[in-house]
Amino acid sequence: MKYALVNGEKKEASKGAKGKCSSCGSDLIAKCGEFKVNHWAHKGNRNCDSWWENETKWHRAWKNKFPKNWQEVVHFDQSGEKHIADVKTDSNWVIEFQHSYIKPQELRSREEFYTKMVWIVDGTRRKRDKTQFQNKYEEGTKVFKDLVIKSISFHEECRLLEEWIDSKALVFFDFQNPIDNQQSDFWFLLPKTSTGKVLIIPYSRENFIKYHNQNTFGEEINKLFSFINKELERKTIIEQIQNSSARKNTFHIYKRFKSIKPRRGRWL
Ligand SMILES: [Zn+2]
Repeated sequence: MKYALVNGEKKEASKGAKGKCSSCGSDLIAKCGEFKVNHWAHKGNRNCDSWWENETKWHRAWKNKFPKNWQEVVHFDQSGEKHIADVKTDSNWVIEFQHSYIKPQELRSREEFYTKMVWIVDGTRRKRDKTQFQNKYEEGTKVFKDLVIKSISFHEECRLLEEWIDSKALVFFDFQNPIDNQQSDFWFLLPKTSTGKVLIIPYSRENFIKYHNQNTFGEEINKLFSFINKELERKTIIEQIQNSSARKNTFHIYKRFKSIKPRRGRWL
């Protein structure tokens, strides 16, 4: 963990320091070595929170984008179960940074526990994820003429999409600093539409951080959703009109077809 309570105050680990866990109250030891980020550990390295994952520099870099009192917040549900949220904002958004693989069952329990939740998934852990994802995006169909939102078919060919598509929370993929700056490195996987469409959209990392810090993230996401909904509705109506005229055309073709008299013996 990044923080322990030292004399009741949230402090980062420093050599030889001792502190208490803000969740279970037991003693924590400061671990300050060369290879891992400085952190606090429970004795015997067994964390009191079974959902806790060892932190990487990536976790830390993300946490540091938010105020100290939003980081590592103990969250209780109605039954009294408690877990440490990576970040919990003043508007009650819980942001979890997920580096390692998470079993579907744990994913669901965590989403049920933190109802208003955002996942940020480290897209760089497996070598092929980024290429798979980019290929899928390139193959994808533009949903709206002038927008970068794309609808993805055969999403199961991309492991990241397959693992996260049924999430009930909001999912963002972080591919970290790409060499190719033209390609976005932060993406939003929209919740599946009612018709089962899988939609992805590049999202500004700076805005994501800014909106949370301003406590306007919910509003911004709602704006985006209502815009997409409206556009999708409009598109469906247009498609329905086109389909009905297409049906009429087929009918004409069919009539013309029937009017040609078959030669004897054929089609029978
Ligand atoms: Zn603890």
